[in-house]
Amino acid sequence: MNITGIKGMNDILPGEMATWHFLEQQAHRIFQTYGFGEIRVPVVEKTELFCRSIGETTDIVEKEMYTFDDRSGNSLTLRPEGTAPVMRAFIEHKLHNQDSVTKLYYQGPMFRYERPQKGRYRQFHQIGAEVIGVDDPKIDAQVLAMLSHYFSAVGIQDVALHINSLGCKECRPDYRQALIDYLQKHLAGLCGDCQRRYQTNPLRVLDCKVPACREATATAPAMLENLCRVCEDHFSQVKSHLQGLAIPYTVNARMVRGLDYYSKTTFEMVTNSLGSQNAVAAGGRYDGLIADLGGPALPGIGFAIGVERLVLMKNAESLAVRRLPLFLATMGKSAADRAFLLMVSLQNQGLSVEMEYAGKSLKSQMRRAAKFGARYALILGEEELSREVAVLRNMDEGSQQELSLTGIEARLLQICSAEPAGPTAD
Ligand code: ATP
Ligand code: MG
Repeated sequence: MNITGIKGMNDILPGEMATWHFLEQQAHRIFQTYGFGEIRVPVVEKTELFCRSIGETTDIVEKEMYTFDDRSGNSLTLRPEGTAPVMRAFIEHKLHNQDSVTKLYYQGPMFRYERPQKGRYRQFHQIGAEVIGVDDPKIDAQVLAMLSHYFSAVGIQDVALHINSLGCKECRPDYRQALIDYLQKHLAGLCGDCQRRYQTNPLRVLDCKVPACREATATAPAMLENLCRVCEDHFSQVKSHLQGLAIPYTVNARMVRGLDYYSKTTFEMVTNSLGSQNAVAAGGRYDGLIADLGGPALPGIGFAIGVERLVLMKNAESLAVRRLPLFLATMGKSAADRAFLLMVSLQNQGLSVEMEYAGKSLKSQMRRAAKFGARYALILGEEELSREVAVLRNMDEGSQQELSLTGIEARLLQICSAEPAGPTAD
């Protein structure tokens, strides 16, 4: 029996890598422009970190975490998201002592035991960003500006920004109670899950995808109508900054997030092109989180982008394939040996070159060159070798020229590097 990979955990093969690199490189470029520095944290943390931050009654903590005991009996968890580990590191290394504002970004795999389907996996990747230390609504708008900028830079148009406010410690408890009272009256219409959790996590009921629950909560009170003055004012400033920046948005009063630490501004980037996995990025404010984790009482805001979902959207439009600048086709052992030295030397000098190792016919070698999308093929046989020359064929035009083997490296570097060889994704 072959050993296979784990269900819901994907291999990312070389053919898909151009898209991944492109999405990652744009994140580095754009986030750094906005003053964010990259942070890398481990993929495993103490289980308690996630229970305390994400919340005991959330789907993630209740049923989606990969939790295990290590050999010393410590309970560890594969990170289901990035914000809690990044805040743990922020507190542990006292990054707030370096500046009053800390801007961090991260990328890497996350793990959730979910039912695998298109756009939903058990290992998936996020690119995320966090700003710590600023309560001002301008920061909310700036984070959303950066997120929008990222989406347009990677060429994804089919997304809409949805925003909402989830209130704060002042106004949420009253609203929460009003919602529980409402749900109590509509209990018969709720699904089993919601009947069980409406007392412990009533906001989650608003997010339930079961049609009966959506119907039963259609007239439920919304947090947005029950904000305190501070939250109300904060939200209206966020909206007016977004208008000032010409960033389109939709207010979605039903949107609640699956993690307990959010407060005030929350948001999602949604698309129509991925079926029910319609959120490609999500985030919000978490003003109480850092203090809850034992750090200073500093506000924070951030988001995470689901990279697999972006890749699915990008693949739909297919990136231009990368072309190989030069392929070496040879006939006879001494020509192959000579070409091999030439190839390694050219690779050493930064040129991508491929050759045929097994003694195949010239025709089959040229087919392989075409498969690589080679711009040039250098043909070297025993006859050419005896005259100390090689034939360079321009694969697009079909034209050929003879090059002397003396000084050929410099000539090839000059000719083959002159053409653009990179992907044309942007
Ligand atoms: P969903 O509603 O789709 O379950 P979520 O609210 O659980 O998403 P977050 O925890 O906010 O998602 O994570 C941010 C982003 O990470 C999501 O918008 C999505 O693009 C991506 N994501 C979340 N879970 C998965 C998963 N299991 N597989 C692939 N991508 C995911
Ligand atoms: Mg989820």
